[in-house]
Amino acid sequence: MECSSCSKKAVYSNQGRSYCKDHFLNYFERKVFRTIRKFSLIKHEDKICVAASGGKDSLAVLYMIMLYCKKYNIDFFALNIDEGIADYRNHTINDLKKFCKKYNITYNIISFKERFGFTLDELIKKGIEKGKKPCTVCGILRRTLLNRGARELGATKLVTGHNLDDESQAYLMNLFLGSMKHSAALGPITGFNVNNKFVPRIKPLYFISEKETRLFAFLKEFDVHFSECPNIELSFRAKVRDKLNELELLRGGTKNGIVNAFLEVLPTLKEKYKNTKSFDYCEKCGDPCAGKICNACVLEEELCQT
Ligand code: SF4
Repeated sequence: MECSSCSKKAVYSNQGRSYCKDHFLNYFERKVFRTIRKFSLIKHEDKICVAASGGKDSLAVLYMIMLYCKKYNIDFFALNIDEGIADYRNHTINDLKKFCKKYNITYNIISFKERFGFTLDELIKKGIEKGKKPCTVCGILRRTLLNRGARELGATKLVTGHNLDDESQAYLMNLFLGSMKHSAALGPITGFNVNNKFVPRIKPLYFISEKETRLFAFLKEFDVHFSECPNIELSFRAKVRDKLNELELLRGGTKNGIVNAFLEVLPTLKEKYKNTKSFDYCEKCGDPCAGKICNACVLEEELCQT
């Protein structure tokens, strides 16, 4: 198949258009920059922290943020959370270090072990008998450390590598759980209440699919492991992901349709829930929290006591 814009061999097709390598890379970059501008994700005075696990999504978003921030002279750096997942995270951290060295990007690493006293692997063992799922433990503690780390390092925005697949999965999962309130906090810029201890999260890859990110990382020859976290298969998200991929194969554009439909109702959801979830501060750690004690402190009490 030929590229729709030149006579070179196509490497990708989407919605009736085909792209050769150069036109695909151009399409990818334009799409990301357009998302940043359309939703005003980054302002000139921002200091940007990129949550970078070292996986392909985070390296793709880190690369795009590097291009954008260099173009507009905006300060940025990478932040990695080392959960402590044996034979997985150590590889992606090595990939991140190599990437940052190659592009001269400042990076920081914060670990579960150093902040909570245990690795995720150790916490999972403790949590199994209490019925805790690995991704629940990991998600709560990682989100907390990302926010703390970004704040401690002076960031005003936290970039994540969430893409179209992640967002459509999250919206569907909230629908299945009957939790529209949680969906009100989704979108290209996360959160619906202002809190000075919460660093707003932004998603420049919001309209980019998993397949596109994978191809981008491959074509840019990022030195990256494409393996998945060993815990993902135990999660509800993995089931939703697989079903959604089946639907996308049956009807191309399904994920786009879900996210675009969600964006239509998002302003209504934000309006509806803006006063129902007032943030306060955790009585134990002082971080932003919807109740008296934040989820991370509750988990710490349950799992991190020796
Ligand atoms: Fe953490 Fe689950 Fe993601 Fe693995 S798959 S990094 S355990 S949230």
